[in-house]
Amino acid sequence: MTAQLIDGKAIAAQVRREVEEGVAAFVAAGWPAPGLAVVLVGEDPASEVYVENKVRQTEAVGMRSQRFVLPAGTSEDDLLALIEQLNNDDSVSGILVQFPLPPQIDVANVISAIDPGKDVDGFNPLNVGRLAAGLDGGLMPCTPMGVMRLIRSVHDDIAGLGVLVVGASNVVGRPLARLLLQAQCTVSIAHIRTTDLKKRCREADILVVATGVPGLIRGDFIKPGATVIDVGISRVRLPSGKDKLIGDVAFGEAVEVAGAITPVPGGVGPMTIAYLLANTLQAAKASAGLA
Ligand code: NAD
Repeated sequence: MTAQLIDGKAIAAQVRREVEEGVAAFVAAGWPAPGLAVVLVGEDPASEVYVENKVRQTEAVGMRSQRFVLPAGTSEDDLLALIEQLNNDDSVSGILVQFPLPPQIDVANVISAIDPGKDVDGFNPLNVGRLAAGLDGGLMPCTPMGVMRLIRSVHDDIAGLGVLVVGASNVVGRPLARLLLQAQCTVSIAHIRTTDLKKRCREADILVVATGVPGLIRGDFIKPGATVIDVGISRVRLPSGKDKLIGDVAFGEAVEVAGAITPVPGGVGPMTIAYLLANTLQAAKASAGLA
């Protein structure tokens, strides 16, 4: 069997078109264009690239963007003061603080300080709690939302399907498991202490892997015909000296067994920013009192 490729680039482009149309309709109704504020502390080159990308894509769908770059030595109090200022600024619909943060800043304090209505990463405890309780209306984390859209691109109905999520982080695994549960899947979560990983993977109709361990999932871990979503992104150095991005799934083996599979790159990666834009529009609409 050769699996169907799930084209994250094309699906992310579709999400961005939907956001662009939503923004145009919002502005046509007389509201100001939604605005995203991105805050970067320090000079991590990878983070600078991510921020640049977010700003460019935000503006491409007709939203405004503001970038705040603070020195690496910024104190937690100064960062919290900026967040407070952005919370109170009506022209800012969404706030994103780029991680990682320097060690003098407590990430949990930063996440809690962001107004839940502007928390476009969906990490604020209030939004996490809404998702855990199955309540509608909160902002939900971007990568898990993107994974759900990819799964739905190959399944009309996922209710009742067995899903294994490998990886239990607060950014991907846990919120994704909650979204899948809300969609009435039968969900299990595996993590570094899970025993019999191969056996558990082989039972899953849908296997989502988010560990950061390159090639962890081999072809014989996969139930024939299963849908495989590879969230992992690791940069490895080839003997040629060039860098290559690879996922958590041994793609060449998995593609022969799975029914549908995401590539790395070009699978989950592009979906994350697309849902950041969708969340920014959702936040603007909610603050305007629209559904
Ligand atoms: P994390 O390090 O916070 O969590 C990793 C999880 O994997 C943990 O729960 C750990 O217990 C589990 N794990 C580690 N080794 C394991 C093993 N051998 N067997 C089973 N479970 C194991 O990572 P994260 O932030 O969730 O990111 C995971 C991967 O996803 C990374 O490669 C990251 O770069 C990628 N990622 C991609 C996107 C995207 O937009 N595509 C977004 C977020 C993260």
